[in-house]
Amino acid sequence: MPLTGIEIFKLLPKTNCGECGVPTCLAFAMALAAGKAELAACPYVSDEAKEKLEEASAPPIRPVTIGTGERALKVGGETVLFRHEKRFENPPGLAITISDSMEDAEINSRLDKSNNLQYERVGLTLKSELIAAKCESRDPASFKSLITKVKQKSNAGIILMSENPDILAAGLEVCAESKPLLYTATIENVDKVAALAKDKSCPVAVKAENIQEIIQLTTKLEQTGIKDIVIDSGNRKMKQALEDQISIRRAALNNKIRSLGYPTIILASEMTDNPMMETLIATTFIAKYGSIIVMSDFQGESLFPLLVLRLNIFTDPQRPLATTEGIYKVGNTNENSPVLLTSNFSLTYFIVSGEMENSRIPSYLLVKDTEGLSVMTAWAAGKFGADTIAPFIKKCGIADQINHRKLIIPGYIAIESGGLEEELPDWEILIGPREGAHIPAYLKTWKTQGG
Ligand code: SF4
Repeated sequence: MPLTGIEIFKLLPKTNCGECGVPTCLAFAMALAAGKAELAACPYVSDEAKEKLEEASAPPIRPVTIGTGERALKVGGETVLFRHEKRFENPPGLAITISDSMEDAEINSRLDKSNNLQYERVGLTLKSELIAAKCESRDPASFKSLITKVKQKSNAGIILMSENPDILAAGLEVCAESKPLLYTATIENVDKVAALAKDKSCPVAVKAENIQEIIQLTTKLEQTGIKDIVIDSGNRKMKQALEDQISIRRAALNNKIRSLGYPTIILASEMTDNPMMETLIATTFIAKYGSIIVMSDFQGESLFPLLVLRLNIFTDPQRPLATTEGIYKVGNTNENSPVLLTSNFSLTYFIVSGEMENSRIPSYLLVKDTEGLSVMTAWAAGKFGADTIAPFIKKCGIADQINHRKLIIPGYIAIESGGLEEELPDWEILIGPREGAHIPAYLKTWKTQGG
């Protein structure tokens, strides 16, 4: 059971030194109990107290890592029901299914998709993380051979899928050091699968018919010392599966039921035969509250929207994605190149710089720090007006790199042109387009504007 604020307070040093960021140990204890502070913020907790406090300070959904190295996937660690309360912490992993009953060509094609389907967006590389390797042959040797192929061709995290502990053991012979997820422990096989998970220190998924059975299974695993657990509620009907996700998240967060405080796995691959519907199902569980989503296959047109949706939902709503303030060169600029200005909202930066690139006219892009806000929002918030832009233009050093004094501002802040001409008397302020898509056509007129 989690400790109360007063119980936590009794274990703290009670010196009220304030180094944890709040003025008193009591305030820190209350914040810890509410899941709003990290124990590591207090440097003076004794080891003995630390052990007792770890449970109280742990997030209500335990973080679990699958795989190792650069494609290791951390899921769980969630602390809120709704993104706007704080943020969602760890984006769900997306898995493609392969099976030992598939032809080699099909297996290779899916491994290629897992490796190569990736997309650049707002400066990030978006791609899937997991391979769900399924044993359909019931033959341990065949499964071992499949996992060997996966290991040879991919560094993705692996989900070993079988309810037969001997088959899971065969897969583990070739990938135990990669810390795969063992899927799955059930009421029938839990002792043997738990022994495998414990022996190889691998995370393990539990699957049952209902939440009560899930609690039985997770409790049993906890008693054997296994903490890295993933829950499959077993439902393959969309409505019930969604209800399960919400019940599990609420039970862990609101009712502090630790035995349900684990990430969850959704087998979208088993919920429909229709690829379009499968994608829609996956979108639902990216939003609420799947931690791993297993797809039957990946297609670019379905994977890309899922990756973008995931990025959007798991971006911290209080910290917009931002680009560093400064001068960016697009193409081989020289002292006659046009100079454009924009805000440092990452999406804005990538749209504007992409369109500048499309124009094939080498240009400078001045990115002003607007705390990650888009042009209009920053302007409305008083962070992108003449009074803040002018000092930036003066100090950024662009004047040393060009022999003209023409500044192209976004069309949405045309109203600032007069103020800018007053603040920057040496400069001519030109009104650029409102939409990024019109930048190439606009830049083609650069010469006619005397540039
Ligand atoms: S840092 Fe530790 S000792 Fe200092 S006020 Fe915070 S909880 Fe108390």
